[in-house]
Amino acid sequence: MKLIRSIPQLRSWISKIQRQGRTIGFVPTMGALHEGHISLIHRARQHAGSHSVVVVSVFVNPTQFNQKSDLKKYPRTLTEDQKMCQKAGVDLIFAPSSKAMYPSDFSTWVNEQSLSLPLCGKSRPGHFRGVCTVALKLFNLVQPDFAIFGQKDAQQAQVIRRLIRDLNLPIQMIIAPTLRERDGLAMSSRNKRLNPQERKNSTRIYQALKQTRAAFRKGNRSSANLKRLARNQLLKIPKLRLDYLELVDASTFQSVQRASHGNLLATAAFLGKTRLIDNIFL
Ligand code: AMP
Repeated sequence: MKLIRSIPQLRSWISKIQRQGRTIGFVPTMGALHEGHISLIHRARQHAGSHSVVVVSVFVNPTQFNQKSDLKKYPRTLTEDQKMCQKAGVDLIFAPSSKAMYPSDFSTWVNEQSLSLPLCGKSRPGHFRGVCTVALKLFNLVQPDFAIFGQKDAQQAQVIRRLIRDLNLPIQMIIAPTLRERDGLAMSSRNKRLNPQERKNSTRIYQALKQTRAAFRKGNRSSANLKRLARNQLLKIPKLRLDYLELVDASTFQSVQRASHGNLLATAAFLGKTRLIDNIFL
């Protein structure tokens, strides 16, 4: 497995791979890898087949953080990440510096202007502008045939799907399911920040989503009722501050009045100082 940190080196590696006629699978990450990321890498390996390479980017993208403290606290564990990638059969880690990605006079941005507006877009102004900009930059650099994203960040996945379509990028987009801890907590690099009590309580977020889905399965179709049910469960969790809880159409991210199969119940909440997100399909 190779580790490349510079853009010129990446370009020459990618063009060599392309000359060999090999397919490129891509898993963009911000590092601090966990089994959730690894499941995407395995998916990439399977999808790509033998005459192919899997590229993982590790880049804590400063432009998608709307709070400096969050960016500063974000875990950085490149040595560990390398070991995990090696074990998972990654061919290349691309880990550029912020300076290389964003020269001081950087001034070109990508704005998706529909799916980015609600939920995380509303509570984290500028977040999806940073996500879209870095995604397009990484796609231009890595030139993947396909890219894998996690359902855990459902809105991000749909925003990037839209970006790929709208800007005619020749990239197949694959969305892989959320990997969870045994107790149901969605795996996330931010989970490391939870103290033991918060970690214990965090499992109740997914429980609240599942209870709401159970009510839907029993025939409850009122979005207001279902959201009330979920919100009540969430607000019982000690030290939880709800950011949003919404029931949306899974491809437009517009709120729905009547719940139907395939809708997405999505939430973001702070447990102490840590912001967690999760979602479930009805
Ligand atoms: P991040 O490093 O948080 O930017 O995540 C990189 C990619 O991994 C994104 O496509 C995420 O949606 C995905 N991902 C993060 N956590 C999980 C998880 N628990 N299960 C599956 N995919 C995940």
